[in-house]
Amino acid sequence: MDIRNFCLIAHINHGKSTLADRLMEICGAVAKNHPAQLLDSLELEREHGITIKLKAIRLAYSSPFTVNSNKNATDREPSTVNRQPVENYVLNLIDTPGHVDFSYEVSRSLASVEGAVLIVDATQGVQAQTLANFNLAKEAKLTIIPLINKIDLPQAEIEKTIEELVNLGFNRSEIIKVSAKTGEGVEELVETIIDRIPAPMSIIRHSEPFACHSEQSEESQDKLREESRSFALRAQDDSGKIQVLIFDSALDPYKGVIVTVRLFGGELKIGDQISFLATGAKAEVLQVGFLSPKPTYVEKLFTGEIGFIVTNLKDLSKVKVGDTITDPKNPAKALPGYQEAKPVVFLSFFPTETNDLPKLKDGLEKLKLNDAALTFTQEFSPSLGKGFRLGFLGLLHAQITQERLEREYDLDIIATSPSVNFVIDGRIINKPQEFDPASRNVKEPYAKVTIFAPQNYYGAISNLVHDRRGELLNFENIGNILRIEASIPLLDLLIGFYDQLKSVTAGYASFDFEVGDYKDADLVKLDILVNHVPIEGLAQIVPKVKAETIGRRLVEKLKEAIPRQQISVPIQAAIGGKIIARETVPAYRKDVTQKLYGGDVTRKMKLLEKQKRGKRRMRKFGSIDIPQEAFLAVLKI
Ligand code: GDP
Ligand code: MG
Repeated sequence: MDIRNFCLIAHINHGKSTLADRLMEICGAVAKNHPAQLLDSLELEREHGITIKLKAIRLAYSSPFTVNSNKNATDREPSTVNRQPVENYVLNLIDTPGHVDFSYEVSRSLASVEGAVLIVDATQGVQAQTLANFNLAKEAKLTIIPLINKIDLPQAEIEKTIEELVNLGFNRSEIIKVSAKTGEGVEELVETIIDRIPAPMSIIRHSEPFACHSEQSEESQDKLREESRSFALRAQDDSGKIQVLIFDSALDPYKGVIVTVRLFGGELKIGDQISFLATGAKAEVLQVGFLSPKPTYVEKLFTGEIGFIVTNLKDLSKVKVGDTITDPKNPAKALPGYQEAKPVVFLSFFPTETNDLPKLKDGLEKLKLNDAALTFTQEFSPSLGKGFRLGFLGLLHAQITQERLEREYDLDIIATSPSVNFVIDGRIINKPQEFDPASRNVKEPYAKVTIFAPQNYYGAISNLVHDRRGELLNFENIGNILRIEASIPLLDLLIGFYDQLKSVTAGYASFDFEVGDYKDADLVKLDILVNHVPIEGLAQIVPKVKAETIGRRLVEKLKEAIPRQQISVPIQAAIGGKIIARETVPAYRKDVTQKLYGGDVTRKMKLLEKQKRGKRRMRKFGSIDIPQEAFLAVLKI
């Protein structure tokens, strides 16, 4: 039995989950009529069409091809009855998320495998995330199989996509073409995975030639083999000690803490005592197994395998993703950890119903169990009461968290304006209330942004970057694609940049970013007053040069979002007490259904229903009711 550990990496919507469906079918793990994108099982993942948590699935594959001694793809022949025995393989597949907010999850997967399938949609070509993932996989020294997907579509531009991959350094002959939808080419892909991706044991023992480029000399193959020792393998303890990398964790309400792991050394079985090197925690192994995709329990997990361990721990904080599990009596070295998930966007959640606070706390604690990147601390606001200050990977992460809390915990939440970490007179702050206009030394974080788009959008992108206070650093052409590097203040990048980039490039562009340096900034605190009362959750720290525009747009949006009241309500934007923009919500018309003359009953009902729903989500500020929706206006400017 031979193992291949690999992950699927791609730009969002290029077909990872669909390809995973086909791979599971080919291996007989699931029936043909299962729901599409089976791995995206979480309800919200389906709705957003993205994979948030990575999934490790073990598949059994019997190759209908016999393998010749030197394991070269061209030497494979279809097996005929009574020739050589069919070879059996274990394939461990990791499906990874594609959205920028979740790129840290990709880095976790990469440390656990030897290979990656880089999927490119033939109708879209190489995109920003394709490149970002490709670079991560290259850095992790994985064997990469370039794959073109969606070849069934009439608008597929296969030749163009091949050119783009060749520009990345792949050989034409390495590129696999499939339709994850129809299944065409997927069997060839599996054979290629077996051929090219090294078995975990072969790297560990340095015994088998690394069959990637067969024209390589012995010597360069040796070098290649050494270089191919992936990321985690370079810290491998070859002594046979238990050395197990945690790349995912979850708390099962009935069983306890379950960790998803890659075994780099030793084996694990029920009853083993284990320890965690970083946290120092100790635990007992209650069960071991793997997902296939249903949980399957086994007696032991062996070196090179990927699977899960059910522990007797009840507290997930003892288990850190990236930590190494070992034998407390004979400990191994720690494997290198992952890139830690660092929150970059900060905002607060307050329940619209003040007595929902314990429910919100409970919801956050539960979500945190499965979301290491989520951080929160309790806070108090004079106008909004008790709530939580939270840190997120990006706004999508924040939105998903808010939606899950509202849906799964039946809460209504007011989310305040998002912010980043500023450094002001040497102190890190991310709350507008902490901003002192008299501060002299003000710095803000910049992001290094990589944008990919067709060449004719250079002008539009350059305008957008400047509009966002950014600066173009570099650009180059990769095939027909333009790669632009820019430095943009994180603040301007986080809100609406992605949508605007898509809209100025007819949906073609994509981007990735990493947080870079802090630079001097000229910032002000923008206050929003409703009926002359400052509304804390709507205040923001904004660049001075943009304060007026933002203030004007915000009061316009708020005018639409705040319903009419008994009196007319002024909405003002102010900086340091000086009003810079104003709108007025005119006084209330007594009965909103009045002008319908009782004619259309359903419409009348709908309107009343809407009014009722709106009520439920309102919060009083002074004498004014402000609906939850008003707080979302900030995200739409
Ligand atoms: P992921 O974000 O990379 O996981 O992408 P998904 O697997 O969710 O696929 C995104 C969309 O592309 C879905 O609507 C799929 O049905 C569609 N899709 C995926 N692969 C193919 C393919 O080979 N051909 C066609 N026509 N559509 C595909
Ligand atoms: Mg997916």
